[in-house]
Amino acid sequence: MKTPLIIYWFRRDLRLHDNRALFEALQNGCPVLPLFIFDTDILDKLPDKRDKRVGFICYAISKLQDELVKMGSSLLVLHGKPLDIFQQLQHQYAISAVYANHDYEPDAIKRDSAISDLLKSHNIRFETYKDQVIFEKAEVLKPDGTPYTVFTPYSKRWKQQLTEEVVKSFPSQDYLMHLYKTNPFHFPTLTEIGFADAGNTFEPARIDENKIRLYHETRDFPSLNGTSGLSVHLRFGTVSIRALVQIALQLNESWLNELIWREFFMMILYHFPKVVNASFKEQYDRIVWRNNEDEFHRWCTGNTGYPIVDAGMRELNATGYMHNRVRMIVASFLTKHLLIDWRWGEAYFAEKLLDYELSSNNGNWQWSAGCGCDAAPYFRIFNPAEQTKKFDPQHVYINKWVENIYEKDYPEPVVEHQFARERVLQAYKIALNIYG
Ligand code: FAD
Repeated sequence: MKTPLIIYWFRRDLRLHDNRALFEALQNGCPVLPLFIFDTDILDKLPDKRDKRVGFICYAISKLQDELVKMGSSLLVLHGKPLDIFQQLQHQYAISAVYANHDYEPDAIKRDSAISDLLKSHNIRFETYKDQVIFEKAEVLKPDGTPYTVFTPYSKRWKQQLTEEVVKSFPSQDYLMHLYKTNPFHFPTLTEIGFADAGNTFEPARIDENKIRLYHETRDFPSLNGTSGLSVHLRFGTVSIRALVQIALQLNESWLNELIWREFFMMILYHFPKVVNASFKEQYDRIVWRNNEDEFHRWCTGNTGYPIVDAGMRELNATGYMHNRVRMIVASFLTKHLLIDWRWGEAYFAEKLLDYELSSNNGNWQWSAGCGCDAAPYFRIFNPAEQTKKFDPQHVYINKWVENIYEKDYPEPVVEHQFARERVLQAYKIALNIYG
């Protein structure tokens, strides 16, 4: 007779502390076997086999493994399609339940629904919980029961609903003695799963309270390193959102608002999954984009001849990160100055960003292009020179990333600002039928 056990399935919650579903699993009375799946449905779509995100996941799960081995347990790391893997696992173990935290992206919802059906057919419970957000799905709604599509009233309601109860932690770390005891399982290398090391080093999440206290003053200056740098940890769940909100409540409301923007865009994606491919405001899909491939290539590689844009793109290409102010500038530049479809820019960011999050990336690109819910008005066109004057007046950030700025090989501007401005206004007005 096999001993009954529970499987805890790590996905985007790669931590042992304050982890809701893990906490619930460990309370259940059966030994808990921790599992991570390198999902080939996701990995096979990544064009770059040195993808930094895969490197980050390896880093985070190897930290988990170190902690689990100390407790006499081990992370079972498998590579394949989750459905096939669970099909095999239910032959190998007497699984009474599988526990996991909710995942809200459309593909993840489909995957979980298929897994749930499979498990049900074998009499195995699939127990899932809210963990990566404070409020999920339809928890923050307008008084008439429909989802918010404007940030400010959403954030007001979000704050009204916030109680001590919803940010209290779930101390999963105190119950690790209930883990399944085993010798360490084989831990696959990057090469074994078809990837290679990009040479990045990663650090555990570090919350710099001083930085958060000053956030509203320093957040907009890319040379100041004045933001938390926690996005990748929020993306992969190596930090708990409940802990961050508790800190934000004590230290800085502006920073709290950014955490709420994250949930706002997750909520929008959940209720309006069409945004993955289409503009939230349909009439913006009538814009006739120029989509010049050569200009797109210049934007991607940081060779537009606009130093602040090029600095941002070169930072992204080198590190997988770009400062938020600069993300807004480069996104505005691509869509407005070059009249290139926001979906091209979104896809490029999705390939490169270490903190890539479908909801935030899509929401912010649509915001920049003007076509999103609660977006920047269509006529707001960032002037790169003015933005530089305001946010990088000494060119500290530019000089760091655009080494050849004073050299002969630094390109002339890809387009003249005033000309580009008139051109995009014309294109948007036609699409939005503003003349008639
Ligand atoms: P902080 O400024 O310290 O903010 C704390 C946290 O709040 C962030 O880690 C993030 O989780 C959240 N946050 C902050 N700003 C935003 C925002 N505008 N929208 C949603 N959440 C926010 N963020 C992503 O996490 N993934 C993305 O794929 C992504 N794509 C973007 C694309 C564009 C075109 C733009 C303009 C912004 C994008 N952002 C994205 C939002 C923002 O730029 C990053 O969250 C931020 O730069 C991360 O740095 P930080 O952790 O130091 O943030």
